[in-house]
Amino acid sequence: MGKQEDFVLRALEERDVRFVRLWFTDVLGYLKSVAIAPAELEGAFTEGIGFDGSAIEGFARVTEADMLARPDPSTFQILPWRGDGPATARMFCDITMPDGSASYADPRYVLKRTLQSAAEQGFTFYTHPEIEFYLFKGQPEAGTVPVPVDRSGYFDHTSTSAGSDFRREAITMLEAMGISVEFSHHEGGPGQQEIDLRYADALSTADNIMTFRTVVREVALGQGVWASFMPKPFTEHPGSGMHTHVSLFEGDRNAFFEAGAEYQLSATGRHFIAGILHHAAEITCVTNQWVNSYKRLIGGGEAPSYISWGHNNRSAMVRVPMYKPNKGQSTRIELRTIDSACNPYLAFAVVLAAGMKGLENKYELPREAEDDVWSLTDRERQALGLQQLPKTLWEAIGVAERSELLAETLGEHVYDFFLRNKRAEWEEYRGQVSAFERDRMLPVI
Ligand code: GLN
Ligand code: MG
Ligand code: MG
Ligand code: MG
Repeated sequence: MGKQEDFVLRALEERDVRFVRLWFTDVLGYLKSVAIAPAELEGAFTEGIGFDGSAIEGFARVTEADMLARPDPSTFQILPWRGDGPATARMFCDITMPDGSASYADPRYVLKRTLQSAAEQGFTFYTHPEIEFYLFKGQPEAGTVPVPVDRSGYFDHTSTSAGSDFRREAITMLEAMGISVEFSHHEGGPGQQEIDLRYADALSTADNIMTFRTVVREVALGQGVWASFMPKPFTEHPGSGMHTHVSLFEGDRNAFFEAGAEYQLSATGRHFIAGILHHAAEITCVTNQWVNSYKRLIGGGEAPSYISWGHNNRSAMVRVPMYKPNKGQSTRIELRTIDSACNPYLAFAVVLAAGMKGLENKYELPREAEDDVWSLTDRERQALGLQQLPKTLWEAIGVAERSELLAETLGEHVYDFFLRNKRAEWEEYRGQVSAFERDRMLPVI
């Protein structure tokens, strides 16, 4: 056993930890957890903890159901919301097959594999997510429209608002778990919040996002409110995106930075954006994985609907943020498609893979969108060569089915399972009769 494992075993005693939760993520991005007694942990480190993979969404074919969860000691943390007294800790796990090889179904492995192939070309991938979500008064009941906790809007400061108390407690808890928060504020919709995590390597950020969702929902429960990362809970209010700032580093040098270049953006940065644009339609199915995700990408609400890039243009899908002179290390690009209900491991993997294709094939960056792309006419957009993002989950599935990049990045098993699951979601949705249809038709026909 290595040093990190020893450190964890010692911490268990020193902190009087009674439960260790082993966390991992299914293919759709739901967190899974199994609690073990501290005495079992040594075995978990050396042999892993067995579980029935076929019981978990997207994990196993029935004939190869046995899988092992192996805790990653570098992710050890005490859970701060369990109060005083004996502590509960958690670690993220890697999933392996009984022979010790990485599980083909583990989203964390999909990301690790993609990071590894970028590393072979000398690059580390950093991400920094801006996570948006809504707070509602109590758990929404089936068939009802949820009630937001306040009526505030973008950057509103209201001393009595449920939102600021909520953000304070959530951020305190995140910091207690070693997750740095950079920025937080009320977002545009009533009850809508945003909390931005500090940039870190993509694997840590993906783990942090999973922790973030858990912390936010725990804090909400404690305060008698309900938090949701649903991409578009209201027709009339903006959706919840997870804009993600990304950059590549070569050692400690930001590979997107070039002093004196336009927007301080190096050729590497330009090819990377071009890769994301080129493969944008194919990867949307992963970055925006639900029927509901596409109700956010309708044009407006500051969510993208066209495949475009721009400098400081908030209607663009990829934005190159305003740069600060002498701060080359912070050069980055912001991808605005991703929503808060994605599987962050898979989403980061496909974004990185798309960007790396751009580098590999030296894709040329198309002209930047200088105008608000939503206010242009169809003809103007056509003249600019602006393609639309998939408009529904069904369209996104169609493009994904023909995507080599996606098959390669997700691996055969995750790719097949994912598309099968998404087709089933669409089929079920397709038959739903909505309030929209009844309200339109019953009074007149
Ligand atoms: N809520 C918007 C979205 O869905 C983003 C708003 C913003 O951060 N400016 O993408
Ligand atoms: Mg923001
Ligand atoms: Mg925002
Ligand atoms: Mg943003």
